Amino acid sequence: MSDDRTEPESVRSVAEPDGAERRRPAETRFDQARWTTDGTYEPLLAEKDLTRVEVGADDAGLPDALTRDSVELPALSEPELARHYTRLSQMTYGITSGPYPLGSCTMKYNPPFTEDVGALPGAAVHPDRSDESIQGTLELTFRLQDYLGRIGGMDAVTLQPPAGAAGEFVGIRVASAYHEHNGEGYRDEVIVPESAHGTNFATAALGGYDVVSLPSDEDGRVDLEALEAALSENTAALMLTNPNTLGLFERDIGEIAEMVHDVGGLLYYDGANLNALLGRARPGDMGFDVMHYNVHKTFATPHGGGGPGAGPVGVVEELAPFLPAPRVRRTDAAGGPDANESADAPVGEGRYELFDPEHTIGKVHGFHGNWLVLVKAFAYIARLGDEGLADASAKAVLNANYLASQIEYEVPYGPVHHEFVASAGDQDAADVAKRMLDYGVHPPTTKWPEIVSEALMTEPTEVESKATLDQLAAAFDAVAAEDDATLEAAPERTSARRIDQVAAARNPRLSWQALDDD
Ligand SMILES: *Cc1c(COP(=O)(O)O)cnc(C)c1O
Repeated sequence: MSDDRTEPESVRSVAEPDGAERRRPAETRFDQARWTTDGTYEPLLAEKDLTRVEVGADDAGLPDALTRDSVELPALSEPELARHYTRLSQMTYGITSGPYPLGSCTMKYNPPFTEDVGALPGAAVHPDRSDESIQGTLELTFRLQDYLGRIGGMDAVTLQPPAGAAGEFVGIRVASAYHEHNGEGYRDEVIVPESAHGTNFATAALGGYDVVSLPSDEDGRVDLEALEAALSENTAALMLTNPNTLGLFERDIGEIAEMVHDVGGLLYYDGANLNALLGRARPGDMGFDVMHYNVHKTFATPHGGGGPGAGPVGVVEELAPFLPAPRVRRTDAAGGPDANESADAPVGEGRYELFDPEHTIGKVHGFHGNWLVLVKAFAYIARLGDEGLADASAKAVLNANYLASQIEYEVPYGPVHHEFVASAGDQDAADVAKRMLDYGVHPPTTKWPEIVSEALMTEPTEVESKATLDQLAAAFDAVAAEDDATLEAAPERTSARRIDQVAAARNPRLSWQALDDD
């Protein structure tokens, strides 16, 4: 990919319509909001002027020991409150601050209309209500099952799993139940390419399988000889994502599917990269038997920090009887109750009910899953339609290839689909990431996949314009030209410098009182 790259000189400046040159944005440095002079933080509301307020505890009907007559609350005007939260929001980096090309995570801007739909009266229903009284909820579930089935080329879908990783686990449990049912419970191996997401290895292990790691070939794709050697009568499944985590389409997918099926194994599709194929190609048509959808990556729902998201699972007909319970079906369709009946029927007509698939693996989530996330996904798919979804994948792929062609860091594998992996070369990818924050852009995913040394895994997504991609390219190139000392000292211009990420994850302080306890 480096061969046909535009000369760096010419990409550093962008021609204005009248031919004049203007400086590219990376040359302007970036300062994140910092609101204190002594290095401490924005005061918490509880640290502001407190005022004692009487509360009507008598009416609460609670035991005396649990009630108070008054509480201390911050005495703030509405603008003071608004400013507090605005300041806090400016002390971190989010998709509304600037581009967020975190590879594999698909951190795209989600249109607020999906939030509006999720907030409509009636979108949230009490989980214990009878099927009879939530026909609209069940219809929406049914239609989303159908949408996702059609998008993925799958015959039946469950919406219950609350995340991609949870979907993987459900998919592998369904595969186990299928093999068990066929008297092939002895199959004890799941094959996972070395470039796969960590959750694939964890899923296979948690599902009780021995994990067989599959090396990549020189092109960064599945090595067919290695696959041949790994496959046997003990193979329960091969887990793949396509395009893979290098952004490369597995061109031999037809042959791979045949090889796996020939030994009686199942082909699992990790749907995290489905945005590359949306409206153009379907895992089901490639020979995949079971897949999860990362609703919060491919469709709409802000994510990061652990959710909430949703990881529906789709399967081919043979696996449908093993899906989690309950699923939703139409009961009045011509031809009788059929969970796969197309959702083309007019909205609001028809009757819907919950049912347990014949050999179900059981329940995997309370009630209807992360319901409001599913409502948002439904709204997004319905609004974009077939053409909009196909347009999203086209732009995701175009944007990734454009950005890959513009940066000076080497991109060893390509052409790509929705993401690419550059190498930071002699620089430390983690330092590069910290330094990019100083230029006002979020860094890519770093040091993974390990096939590329000092990996910078970059996914601009379909939502960014050419101007923003140029801004990202300029930030990459500015950092590429800097020395180690500068990188090691970064970030300089953010509200917090380097934090202890391990301690933050392992030892979180979840309330301000914890600070006082030290
Ligand atoms: C994000 C991701 C997962 C896991 O999905 P979550 O929804 O975060 O649990 C699995 N595989 C790949 C390739 C991913 O990028």
